[in-house]
Amino acid sequence: MTREAGDAICKAFANLKTTSVIILLANVWAEYRWSHKVSKALEIIQKTLVAKGHSQTKPRRQVLEVFFHNDKPLTPAAVRKQLPDRNINLASVYRAIELFCRERVLTEVDHVQEGRRYELSDAYRTHHHHLICGSCGETEDFEDCEMDDLEKLIRRRYRFKVIRHDLRFIGLCQSCQQ
Ligand SMILES: [Zn+2]
Ligand SMILES: [Zn+2]
Ligand SMILES: [Zn+2]
Repeated sequence: MTREAGDAICKAFANLKTTSVIILLANVWAEYRWSHKVSKALEIIQKTLVAKGHSQTKPRRQVLEVFFHNDKPLTPAAVRKQLPDRNINLASVYRAIELFCRERVLTEVDHVQEGRRYELSDAYRTHHHHLICGSCGETEDFEDCEMDDLEKLIRRRYRFKVIRHDLRFIGLCQSCQQ
């Protein structure tokens, strides 16, 4: 074996090791994020449900975990598809979502052909608004909220104290414009 070949093999091996370390780290990170989200869901269940006398059931826990793993608004049917336990029926998913909405853990985003879509409320994620495509239903979040001045104006002019606001822009997404 020439020295060049030997060097090349050593290099390839070193690269391989780096790649596997990166993969390993990525897996550890993904697992950490997953378990972090799961524990966050459990913590919320403890605070919002158990503390108020509701019981912590498997459908409730799994439904909330699905919302923690998705950034986009989901219909109950879409939630059900992602549940690890395939035996949980759609009615239980609806009931869990209803309860979480009452407890302000989830919030209703909009109503599309497939049904109402929900996501975690402001209390559990960054405050944001939605750009909703009226043609394909695709939603995009935007976080640049500039409603403070408007709320101050409302306060002054109407003596109305705004507690929260809800803003949606309906339009056409990039691909639906073509
Ligand atoms: Zn679209
Ligand atoms: Zn959103
Ligand atoms: Zn806002």
